[in-house]
Amino acid sequence: MPYCPSCGAEVRETDNFCRRCGARLKELEYPPGTPEAAVKSVIIGRIEGIRRRDPEAISKLIDRDRYTKFDDWPPYELQGPEALDREAEALRVLKEYTYETMNWKINILGDLALAALTIRYRGTIRDRSFDLRSRVTAVLARSGDEWRIVHEHWSRFPETQAPHGETIRHRRLGW
Ligand SMILES: [Zn+2]
Repeated sequence: MPYCPSCGAEVRETDNFCRRCGARLKELEYPPGTPEAAVKSVIIGRIEGIRRRDPEAISKLIDRDRYTKFDDWPPYELQGPEALDREAEALRVLKEYTYETMNWKINILGDLALAALTIRYRGTIRDRSFDLRSRVTAVLARSGDEWRIVHEHWSRFPETQAPHGETIRHRRLGW
């Protein structure tokens, strides 16, 4: 069951607006064939790569030579392509990953694209459960017909910050 990004109420897959607070739930779709739609599909493919635990699929969507990342899991410092190797390790112990993305905004700036969205994702890693909401900004570069991710910045909403340096949180979040 998806959740309202505004108030956290459970909503139905088919609802266009939240029954509790009235927030818009359905994205304004980017028309197929537009650069915005292509960029969105790369980012969805990247997140689907996490869900399917498929580092190879992820690597095809990323320009590894130029890649940098701020993650919402430690280490929080700026990482290069080694972030992808760490992620591949983590995917081995990831289970039951589900996600919803919301509030997409994509701007095409010549051969660069700037994508912003929010994501709620859940699962277990090494048998500890997490349920997080983060803001994601991604920069993509076009080469030929293909867009590849060159930078990602994932940061948790403050209410999902883990206390005392813990990397994950057990209790369900009540936003
Ligand atoms: Zn709502």
